Amino acid sequence: MAKIKVGFGFDVHQLKEQHPFIMGGVNLQHTSGAYGHSDADVLLHAICDALLGAANLRDIGFHFKNTDDRWKGISSLVLLQHVMVLLKEKGWGIGNIDAMICLEAPKLNPHIPAMQANIARAAGITEDDISIKATTNEQMGFIGRQEGVVAYAVCLIEKI
Ligand SMILES: [Zn+2]
Repeated sequence: MAKIKVGFGFDVHQLKEQHPFIMGGVNLQHTSGAYGHSDADVLLHAICDALLGAANLRDIGFHFKNTDDRWKGISSLVLLQHVMVLLKEKGWGIGNIDAMICLEAPKLNPHIPAMQANIARAAGITEDDISIKATTNEQMGFIGRQEGVVAYAVCLIEKI
């Protein structure tokens, strides 16, 4: 049996009114959006951290410093492509990714197939190997007040 490892990732971003909202590489066209140094794609950041963690390659802040102008406003799909290069250098390929987004609004279900397609293309995997789920926070806490958005991801990697 090939050697396998698991990884876990978490990310959180503030929501600001009249700000673009990019999630899984999809522009959500909402009244507010996630704020951060890159495109603030909370889903992709959690996935990148899960992949880096599984391969014991530190974390997203280590590789993509938020003081580095190269990453300012960049699409996080490019960060994911870079993470895949790092994994392949260590001989790892993705088994599967499972992610969960916690957000009060807008509804994400209609956008999930497009997010899966974007992530599959950037990571060089099939859409069946990337699961994306979404839940609200039942109107509680900072997520419930629509002050922020959170994403979690786990992944399995295998020696190729
Ligand atoms: Zn982030």
